[in-house]
Amino acid sequence: MRLILLGPPGAGKGTQASAIVKKYNIPHISTGDIFRSNIKEGTELGMKAKGYMDKGLLVPDEVVVSIVKDRLTHDDCANGFLLDGFPRTVNQAEALDAELSSMGLKLDRVINIEADSSILIERAIGRRICKECGATYHIKFNPPKVEGICDNDGSSLYQRDDDIEETVATRINVYLEQTQPLIDYYKEKKLILNIDGTESIDDIFNNIIEGLENN
Ligand code: ADP
Ligand code: AMP
Ligand code: ZN
Repeated sequence: MRLILLGPPGAGKGTQASAIVKKYNIPHISTGDIFRSNIKEGTELGMKAKGYMDKGLLVPDEVVVSIVKDRLTHDDCANGFLLDGFPRTVNQAEALDAELSSMGLKLDRVINIEADSSILIERAIGRRICKECGATYHIKFNPPKVEGICDNDGSSLYQRDDDIEETVATRINVYLEQTQPLIDYYKEKKLILNIDGTESIDDIFNNIIEGLENN
């Protein structure tokens, strides 16, 4: 299964991605996670990306595209993949199409998680992430059993540098201007599966699976 997860920041892409990849045994490819781990390791790529990320802006297309192209050649993509947070511009989508067609591959579905700006800010500001395993929590909507501690491994949780109100607002605007046009792009290719992102985490997951398997 070759899938894309589309949706504004805070829509729940990462949360759903963890469950979807477990079900289909495919890798979760999050360009945001790739940048964050490069920042943590202090690589040149991380330092380049951080300036854009801290402002809530997109990292330039050519940087992101070359990372994803390389990632798609790894053995674990043989059964498919789930792209989360890529593509984010029409230019990136066209580059992905070209790359997949050169590999003789096609996308199966683009899962579009829909949620209004009003709930996105609260979701992003309350997001907490495990330092070790990357599990995502929310202080109010999906809290860990013990405050600040990951249920999976007891590690401490952190808040993303870009999950502050002003930066989240910029990220939402960037999404509306640069990423939202991808909905029409993939609608024309008849790949879009629209999912209501305002429901509970479990209901959204069930709707995604039903949509993938029955439509
Ligand atoms: P994205 O990857 O789209 O930016 P996340 O999956 O990280 O979004 O979710 C953003 C925040 O919202 C997280 O703190 C997550 O725990 C919480 N969240 C995700 N899905 C839901 C939901 N259906 N209802 C309430 N909160 C949610
Ligand atoms: P995310 O983890 O998906 O919320 O992404 C966090 C940040 O990483 C974004 O605000 C961008 O600065 C950067 N980023 C992630 N994916 C992309 C992409 N496909 N194109 C450009 N920038 C990206
Ligand atoms: Zn953890």
